[in-house]
Order: sequence, then structure tokens, then C-alpha cells
Amino acid sequence: MSDCIFCKIIAGEIPSKKIFEDDEMLAFHDITPQAPVHFLLIPRKHIRSIMELKKADADLLGRLFFKAQELAKELGCGEKGARFVINCKTDGGQTVDHLHIHILGGRSLGWPPG
Ligand code: 5GP
Ligand code: ZN
Repeated sequence: MSDCIFCKIIAGEIPSKKIFEDDEMLAFHDITPQAPVHFLLIPRKHIRSIMELKKADADLLGRLFFKAQELAKELGCGEKGARFVINCKTDGGQTVDHLHIHILGGRSLGWPPG
């Protein structure tokens, strides 16, 4: 999608602090971190939100979550844990319409969300 910030990050048109990339996903630090560890993991495929997930994308989502926990461990969250979040659409607080997992760690996080 030509007007999507995350597609532009994938294309290298917007710089990012990359943590990991392969042929189907990319991880990079959030520009406005909400915790000592806060990175985003996105599929290269432009999927607007988790509500737009197709059955054929289900395996991809599994691989994204598997990589998310691997990277969380690499960034030091293995012992104390982290939060793996997908915001969706207006009520879910999604601001970038390209499916992404937030991974937050390095501090104790409150619950429930406000
Ligand atoms: P959402 O609110 O859609 O769940 O999360 C979008 C996230 O993307 C926010 O945490 C925001 O800080 C992050 N973000 C927005 N624009 C950029 C950008 O250009 N670069 C990076 N690294 N993160 C961004
Ligand atoms: Zn996109």
C-alpha cells in the first residue's frame, strides 16, 4: 500500500531501527517506546488489521508470534516476561493500518488498559 507508513518502512523509504527481518516479516523499535523494550513485528504483506486476516494468513500469524517471543527473549524479557499486543481498529486503539504486534517489556505493565 503506497500510503502505509509500515509498507514504507519495509521498502526502506522511511528509516527504522531494525531488529530482525526475513522474507515475510520485519521487527523494529517503536519510535515512541512505552517501555524499556518496545518493538513492533509486522508481516511484509499489507494486512490492514487482525479483523482482515484470511484463513490462509493463519500460519503466518503463528510464525509472527513465534518470532515475537524469540526476539523478546533476545532482548532480555525471557525471565520476567513481556506483553504481546495487537491493537485493532478504532476501539482497539490502532493508529497504523498495517497489522503489527507490539512487544513491550523491561518493566511491570499495568492491567486493565485504560
Ligand atoms: P498502534 O497504535 O497502531 O497499535 O501502533 C502503532 C505504533 O507505531 C505506535 O506505537 C507508534 O509509536 C509506532 N509508529 C508510528 N509511526 C512510526 C514510525 O515511523 N516508525 C516507528 N519505528 N514506529 C512508528
Ligand atoms: Zn502496509
